[in-house]
Amino acid sequence: MKNISILGSTGSIGTQTIEIVKEQKDIRVTALAAGKNIRLLEEQIRLLKPELAAVWEEKDARALKTAIADLPDVKVSCGMEGLMEVASYEKAEILVTAIVGMLGIQPTIAAIKAGKNIALANKETLVTAGHLIMPLAKQAGVSILPVDSEHSAIFQSLNGEIGNRIAKIHLTASGGPFRGKKAEELERMTLADALNHPNWSMGRKVTIDSATLVNKGLEVMEASWLFGVTPEQINVVVHPQSVIHSMVEYEDGAVIAQLGTPDMRLPIQYALYYPKRRPLSGKRLDFFALRHLDFEEPDTDTFRGLALAFAAMKRGGNMPTIFNAANEKAVAMFIRGEIRFSDIAEMIEAAMDGVAWTDHPDVEQILETERMVYEYLQSNKIFHKHTF
Ligand code: NDP
Repeated sequence: MKNISILGSTGSIGTQTIEIVKEQKDIRVTALAAGKNIRLLEEQIRLLKPELAAVWEEKDARALKTAIADLPDVKVSCGMEGLMEVASYEKAEILVTAIVGMLGIQPTIAAIKAGKNIALANKETLVTAGHLIMPLAKQAGVSILPVDSEHSAIFQSLNGEIGNRIAKIHLTASGGPFRGKKAEELERMTLADALNHPNWSMGRKVTIDSATLVNKGLEVMEASWLFGVTPEQINVVVHPQSVIHSMVEYEDGAVIAQLGTPDMRLPIQYALYYPKRRPLSGKRLDFFALRHLDFEEPDTDTFRGLALAFAAMKRGGNMPTIFNAANEKAVAMFIRGEIRFSDIAEMIEAAMDGVAWTDHPDVEQILETERMVYEYLQSNKIFHKHTF
């Protein structure tokens, strides 16, 4: 039996992790955390019988306690304390970090300090605090196992290559729903358009990030921390079919790739059982139906989020946090209908220009940078000028 805990159990990655738990039958879920979806969390508790469950708000914790009053052995917690408790729950050996955003920083650090291996989906944590998390994981002797399909593909392409230097990482991108569109067209794109991803079914925030190509920018930074490569070594390749999930090029020119149908359960399962593979239900690639694979250069003039991510990564310090916090704020506003799609990149750029830069930020400085970004965008009314 393998014991795991999940942060964000009710989301896209969280529910697919639970599908694997159901299919494999030798994983025990010891602790779960979710945000507001008490109904689904209750179902998951009844199915998985964890010892601990956490939600964000106290009132939701009370409602959950009432709903599972017949299960007195399940402890219910809330707030950041609840997330930290789930993250470091003593009986778990792996923590799946499937919450969205910088909220994941503190629980991930708590889990590493408690000696948990991390199955990492929550890329924003690595983007903003990779310089703290990677050395901490090394010191604690824990593994950071990538769940993002591209990073899992790179991880798989590194198998058996110990001691061989990576020349380049070719990070594939579907291009999202707006591939081929020009800047003027992006201005008219609605929330429904942005949520209509051609290949992947994911949570709202990452789906919108895929439409702006900010997601690819976050993934570039995530790859640099996970695999120790520079921005110059990462080549983003638009590959609309999402069959090649990413590739590693070695010094002799050999390129090793991982291919598969777009199904997040594969990288999740790979992280949970690494280095072993297990059978997994689902579609298989049919090369004769596919016939061809296409590749394009990303249009970074139109999708400026990707170019800004490279700039943030090269600047380092708290710049990736400024980039990420501005994007989190902008995406939340776009979802609420307060700004246009094309304003997202503008807000990121404005924050990168306007918020004070510092080198080597600690956790408190990272969280302070997040507050400064929100305040900057608010007080300079960066987003008000574009309101409908
Ligand atoms: P979802 O939006 O589908 O799920 C987010 C989860 O986080 C939900 O369970 C939500 O709970 C929970 N949550 C939100 N706020 C809080 C809070 N304050 N406290 C506790 N829990 C909270 O996101 P995804 O699963 O799509 O993405 C998760 C992460 O994985 C992201 O970082 C994303 O970039 C990354 N990722 C996702 C992929 C995908 O295919 N979805 C692919 C690769 C990476 P509730 O719903 O109950 O409010």
